[in-house]
Amino acid sequence: MLPFNTIQAAEASLGRNLTVAEMLWFKYSANKSDYFLYCHNTIFLLLFYSLLPLPYMIAELLRSRKIDRFKIQPKIKNSFGDMFRCYRDVMFIFVLVVGPLQLFSFPVIQMIGIRTGLPLPSAWEMFWQLLVYVLLEDYTNYWLHRSLHCKWGYDKIHRVHHEYTAPIGFAAPYAHWAEVLILGFASFLGPMIVPGHTITFWLWMIMRQMEAIETHSGYDFPWSPSKFIPFYGGSEYHDYHHFVGGRSQSNFASVFTYCDYIYGTDKGYRYQKEVFEKSREKSKSGKDNISRQDLKAE
Ligand SMILES: [Zn+2]
Ligand SMILES: [Zn+2]
Repeated sequence: MLPFNTIQAAEASLGRNLTVAEMLWFKYSANKSDYFLYCHNTIFLLLFYSLLPLPYMIAELLRSRKIDRFKIQPKIKNSFGDMFRCYRDVMFIFVLVVGPLQLFSFPVIQMIGIRTGLPLPSAWEMFWQLLVYVLLEDYTNYWLHRSLHCKWGYDKIHRVHHEYTAPIGFAAPYAHWAEVLILGFASFLGPMIVPGHTITFWLWMIMRQMEAIETHSGYDFPWSPSKFIPFYGGSEYHDYHHFVGGRSQSNFASVFTYCDYIYGTDKGYRYQKEVFEKSREKSKSGKDNISRQDLKAE
């Protein structure tokens, strides 16, 4: 809740006029508690998780030839029932684990100092904080995910996420509840170390969801804006990790490719990509939509 009752009081405290964004924030948040503002994360989680995979679901139901060119594992077909079951199972975990965790973790959020007041962060402050968050998340997630591929971690926990050898958007958070907590820690690390404004925190949580849903979508669209992000892994990269399945010791990173490159855990993927490209070159006169499933079958 803002410590000002009027816009004039806020401007007097800042020693300048409020920007348009600050004016909107004042009107929206002045009478709302910090706890309520923090709870927006749970609403965004449910909302974005329900909405963002819908275009991929429609693509999966239509399976037109035009869109099918971008399907990474075209031989896999998911019915509406399959996708709804995945959605239902994830919502179950959200309601029982993620939602309560977010609601009860508010004292931690207060302790680390995520602020809700004025002034709002500048675009530059938001950019560098989000950059720190994504780099910390990517590096931590790499090691946590890799450790979940040990025999015990895989059999007891991570196996659930790998039930999808050809992932779909709704399966991004489909995982054992313990994995949701373990990998969720990586997402909280950045805001814990470099606390910012709650709007930056909201944005970070939404970005994480967008990234995870695209990465698990099962489609590799060349026009995706994420193609312009340097060292970005994307859907084709993570799809390989699911395709190889439980034996997978490749492509552990959640966002970028450099950790797998540095620690040598992308060798299988790079080899397969090379073979894939050569096969595609050879088949130019014949089959024009060769997939990694075809290579596995050969
Ligand atoms: Zn894995
Ligand atoms: Zn995955």
